[in-house]
Amino acid sequence: MSNTGSTRPPIAIDGPAVSGKSSVGRSLASHIGYRFLDTGLMYRAATWNAIKNGVDVNDPAAVAQASESMDFSVSDGKTGDNQIVVNGEDVTKHLHAPMVDDSVSSVASVGRVREIMVAEQRRLASGGAIVMVGRDIGTVVIPKAPLKIYLTATVRTRANRRHREFIAEGTEIEFEDILRSMEQRDLIDSSRENSPLRPADDARVVDTDELSFEEVVNHLVELAKDVL
Ligand code: C5P
Repeated sequence: MSNTGSTRPPIAIDGPAVSGKSSVGRSLASHIGYRFLDTGLMYRAATWNAIKNGVDVNDPAAVAQASESMDFSVSDGKTGDNQIVVNGEDVTKHLHAPMVDDSVSSVASVGRVREIMVAEQRRLASGGAIVMVGRDIGTVVIPKAPLKIYLTATVRTRANRRHREFIAEGTEIEFEDILRSMEQRDLIDSSRENSPLRPADDARVVDTDELSFEEVVNHLVELAKDVL
């Protein structure tokens, strides 16, 4: 992905796992003619790379070293999603495997990993006209973004959504296992020392529990009109 773009400001969307950030963010980007970056994929790529190289994901020094030597790039896919290439291999399709889900929060809590990812995210944001989704976009990556959105939903709603996604793609997994993994991820993401998950002070908080996908997107398109 190059960082060329217009001066239209970047838009930050944060929220917990499976709050709908990625699908909503992608749709918002397509409605307003912005590019889209799912920063979670970058931490997932670092996790996949560590696992593939036999690195202990609970050893911060080893994870940091593996991430430093990882050559990666993010590009715009054909359908507005992102593709991630690690050391010459397109790894996108591996990044939502349960094994990655279970380890990504440990990897993402390593300070050096965050430095590497945030530097690349800021480079991409500097071109403007991009919707970026993650956990710390409004608080750390682009705190000056004029529109910061924080999407939430209860952990049960989110685990249900994820369960349906797994079933739709033919992966057999127990709902309770997803719920536990998600609660664990929420806990690590929101209590970590480095860039914990929280809404920016000036974020627009949108609770998606009772809203349809279209309702959320329409609401965000309206909010975006104020900054375009
Ligand atoms: O958004 P997604 O669930 O794909 O993110 C995977 C993990 O990556 C999160 O649970 C979190 O630990 C980490 N992450 C992060 N900061 C971001 C995006 C994701 O720490 N900006």
